[in-house]
This record gives sequence, structure tokens and C-alpha cells, in this order.
Amino acid sequence: MRRLTGRKAVPQVFIGDDHIGGYEDFLVLDAKGEIDARFGRKRKPAPAKVEIQDLLIIGAGPAGMTAAVYAARKGLSTVIISDQLGGQPALTATIENYMGYQFITGPELMARFEAQTRRYPGVALAAGEEAIRLELDGRMKKAITESGKIFTGRAAIIASGKRSRTLNVPGEHDYIGRGVSYCATCDAPLYAGESVLVAGGGNSALEAALELAALCPRVHLVSLSEPTGDEILLGKVMAETRILKHLLWRLSEIKGDGKEVTAAGITSADGARREEVPVKAVFVEIGLHPNSAFAVDLVRLNRAGEIEVDSDCCTGVPGIFAAGDVTQVRDKQIIVAAGEGAKAALSAQEYLLSQR
Ligand SMILES: Cc1cc2nc3c(=O)[nH]c(=O)nc-3n(C[C@H](O)[C@H](O)[C@H](O)COP(=O)(O)OP(=O)(O)OC[C@H]3O[C@@H](n4cnc5c(N)ncnc54)[C@H](O)[C@@H]3O)c2cc1C
Repeated sequence: MRRLTGRKAVPQVFIGDDHIGGYEDFLVLDAKGEIDARFGRKRKPAPAKVEIQDLLIIGAGPAGMTAAVYAARKGLSTVIISDQLGGQPALTATIENYMGYQFITGPELMARFEAQTRRYPGVALAAGEEAIRLELDGRMKKAITESGKIFTGRAAIIASGKRSRTLNVPGEHDYIGRGVSYCATCDAPLYAGESVLVAGGGNSALEAALELAALCPRVHLVSLSEPTGDEILLGKVMAETRILKHLLWRLSEIKGDGKEVTAAGITSADGARREEVPVKAVFVEIGLHPNSAFAVDLVRLNRAGEIEVDSDCCTGVPGIFAAGDVTQVRDKQIIVAAGEGAKAALSAQEYLLSQR
């Protein structure tokens, strides 16, 4: 076998005198629909062209883009599949804790990440593609997207981060983008001079309330519990007279005139009292949810829906790695996500070497 193939791994597949390669190479041939032709059989209707990459990366945030750069520098052909570019920092106003920059806006930092990623011709960027399923096909990994495309790779890194949680109160879904927002940093300027409401009591809600108070005369902060954010933020919120605190109250309804939000119903935690506050916008800031649903049948998730990985970003499924906010790694920060992305790419490279 060594003499015929020059390889030192089993199995090695031959069709007639043709050396196909290892099992993985056979799968590639199968994925390309070329097996019949190799056996001299009539070809089935031409299958869609399948390109096999070394590495699929799902998500183009700090973790995904860093992983892509590390993978490219190891010579791995890589495709990043992402419904958006830049991840959460693309929606963050100021970043003061990413090393190398004392101050940088989120969009500017992520534009730099993207430019660095695009410098490598081995990295293809499939932007606007949302993965709806990640599955195994033999040793191949297949990502199926909402648009119906199938991306095939020898290894995959899940770097799909987190997205805002919804409250699912009446009216919320009807008015998304018409007064209901999940990103104060993005949408606050649209409601300058208006009365608005922020639902939530953690850091994101406190930050949102302060950001809005700089633009709006009245900001209703509605939190079902005592606020749990950082002391410094909490102090600022408590001192800000434009923020009206409704603590131990919950947002129970969002009302509108069919076109835009006009008011919000709030209910006391014990349900005894209900009020209606006239507002033009409701900012739902109740935390984030991991984007792991497309891999739920494949990898192990914790109770919060985060993918469980070991210290090398391995999920336990051979060839599938995960990095950043979508994992159980404690600290959800850009620098941590980028570092985990680098680790995941190096682990993927080691896995691919072991498969040769
Ligand atoms: C308001 C706010 C302020 C923050 N401020 C800071 C800060 O100052 N400093 C700091 O260090 N951190 C900050 N963070 C945290 C930081 O943004 C995250 O820790 C970091 O972005 C995580 O990176 P990630 O790559 O893991 O995920 P994300 O940034 O969430 O990126 C995930 C990517 O995956 C894509 N994706 C998701 N699902 C799919 C799918 N099914 N198919 C295809 N693509 C998909 C998304 O579109 C996105 O491109 C902040 C977060 C928020 C919300």
C-alpha cells in the first residue's frame, strides 16, 4: 500500500487502478456525485457543484474572524458562513478594553477584523447566509443555510455568538422595528426628544437607560427584580433624574396605533397594579441567548443553551469545535472570544492533520 500510494494511513481506496485516496477523499468524490462515473455508470442528473473546504466557520464575529485568520495562516481553505458581519461589537458604541486601542468604536474595530480576514485569499466569506442545521455526513461536516445552500467541510468551528432575548409580551413582535428595539446603541438617536421605556435590570439595561437619558426627557426603566448591574452603572442610573425607576414591575404589553408604538402596559410584580405609560419606543434589554439551535442535535449544550467545550475548544464530536459567546466559557468579552477563536482554529488544524 505504501509503495502504491505513498501514504501511511488506512484505508486507501482504489477504483480499478485509480487511487482515490483515504476514506475522506472517497466521501469527497461521493459528495461531488462522481462515484457513478468512476464505475463507468451513466451519470445521474448533474448535482449542484459541491466545494469541500478544510474548515467551515459559522459566525463572523470576533471569534469567527480570528479563527479564520489563524486557519488561513495554517494553509486551511476556509469558508465563513454568517448572516451578519462583525457580531455584537458591530452594534456596540465604545470599546475601551480591547488591547492595542485605548478607545475604538465597535464598528471600527470589526471593520479592521474584516479587512484583516479578507487579506487571505484562502478565506471565503459567505455573508448573508444563516446556518439552520449543522450535520455530519460520514466524516464530513455539512452546514445547511436558510437559502438552501450546503457548505461541506472536513472540520467546523461554531462561533455563532449570542443574540438578544425577547420578552414575548403582547405587541412585541408586531412592533419590532416600529418602536420595539433590542439595541439602544443602534436605535437611541431615532427617539431623541421622545419618552421611551427600557425593560431589564442588568448591565445592558442600565447602559441603555443612561444612553437614552442623554437624548430623551423621560426614560422609564422597568425591572422585575432589583437591578443587578455594576455598582458604578447603578449609581449613575439612580442619580439620573430623567430615568423613572419602576423596580419590581414588569413590562406586560406594548401598544400601538398599527403603525408605531404609542404606549406600554406595566404591571407590578405581585400583579396587583397595572399602569399605562405613553412612550414612542420600548427597548428590550434582558440579556442574550446563545445561537446554538442549528447544532442542537449534534453537540452537548448546557442548561443555558451554550455549547460545552473543553479547554481546547473541542465539543467532543470529532472535527467540530466551538468558540466565543456561544460556548459555556465564563467571560463574554471580545478579547476572550478572539482568543478562543484562535484556539479553535489551531485545534481544528491539529484534527485535520490527524486525519491525513
Ligand atoms: C451592548 C454590548 C456591549 C458590549 N461591550 C463590550 C465591550 O466593551 N468590551 C468587550 O470586550 N465585550 C463587549 N461585549 C461583549 C462582546 O461583544 C462579545 O463577547 C463578543 O462579541 C463575542 O464574540 P463572538 O464572536 O463569540 O460572537 P458574536 O459577536 O455574537 O458574533 C456571532 C456571529 O455569528 C453570526 N451568527 C449567529 N447565528 C448564526 C447562524 N445561525 N448562521 C450564521 N451566522 C450566525 C452572527 O451574525 C455574528 O456575526 C458587549 C456586548 C454587548 C451586547
